[in-house]
Amino acid sequence: TRRIVCLGDVMVDVLAILPGPLRHASDTPAPVTLGHGGSAANTAAWLAACGAPGYFVGRVGDDAFGREAVRVLVDQGVSPLVSIDPAAPTGVCIVLVSPDGERTMIPSSGANLTIRPADLGADLLGAQDHLHLSGYALLNEGSRETALFALGTAASVGASVSVDAASAGPIRAVGGAVFLDWLPDGALLLANADEVRALSPEPDDAAALDHLVERGLTVVLKRGGEGALVASGADRLPVPATPVPAVDTTGAGDAFAAGVLAPLHHGSDLVEAVRQGNALGARAVSQVGARPGRPRAAR
Ligand code: ADP
Repeated sequence: TRRIVCLGDVMVDVLAILPGPLRHASDTPAPVTLGHGGSAANTAAWLAACGAPGYFVGRVGDDAFGREAVRVLVDQGVSPLVSIDPAAPTGVCIVLVSPDGERTMIPSSGANLTIRPADLGADLLGAQDHLHLSGYALLNEGSRETALFALGTAASVGASVSVDAASAGPIRAVGGAVFLDWLPDGALLLANADEVRALSPEPDDAAALDHLVERGLTVVLKRGGEGALVASGADRLPVPATPVPAVDTTGAGDAFAAGVLAPLHHGSDLVEAVRQGNALGARAVSQVGARPGRPRAAR
């Protein structure tokens, strides 16, 4: 069996569904719903929902949230390899969802930041066909050594690699050039326009994308409601979105990643894979929460 290993964060998401703008949030009661999140765990769950072998490697605390996070992953069809930190709590992310479906995330990464190379499971990493790395694992200092170790293992077994750029702010904080140096030649980079700008010294969007391709990456540019663009070699191929009303964009990028990786593993070409990525991203934005089918809409 072909194994797609997702390495990175798992979180319990506390979603507050704001009825109006943030500045009025303290005046109006808002429904709160517990969801499950973490970029890498989300992608593994969406992979499983597509019938692809989604493995998740990460770390939780020795607490009720951590046990619940693992139970839900198994329930969603993921094979989790989750180590337990005796001291740090399970990661929690407060997600403020605006009426237009946009979200503000306030993460407390907890045990995600204490993962060590020894937690990776030599057997699993040795048998992987593809490593999907959440950019957060590289960007957070606590997990970086482990993320780099996993990339080294992928290279040594000849596994293909994809990396989700995660977030522009932390990329700027470590430096785009530093982040690019961590990525192996030939990796598939999933990034939105902000992240591409943060990664490249080029001021112009098109030139920034060219720069990443010249660095040996294949880039899938995520464009929200506009869909995506494949940048590979000299090709720049727009792939239109699947139109849906946006309810909550939490996890759209993570579902999109799974939607791309699953068909690639069944031998599809990249443009067809990105079409399916758009379809899965659209499914994620038309529901509340970051995981397939849960939690139920709170509106
Ligand atoms: P990220 O959340 O990582 O910045 P995007 O917001 O671009 O990524 O969303 C990832 C993908 O999800 C998009 O490329 C697209 O396929 C899909 N998507 C996001 N927002 C919408 C939307 N409003 N309508 C349809 N598809 C969407």
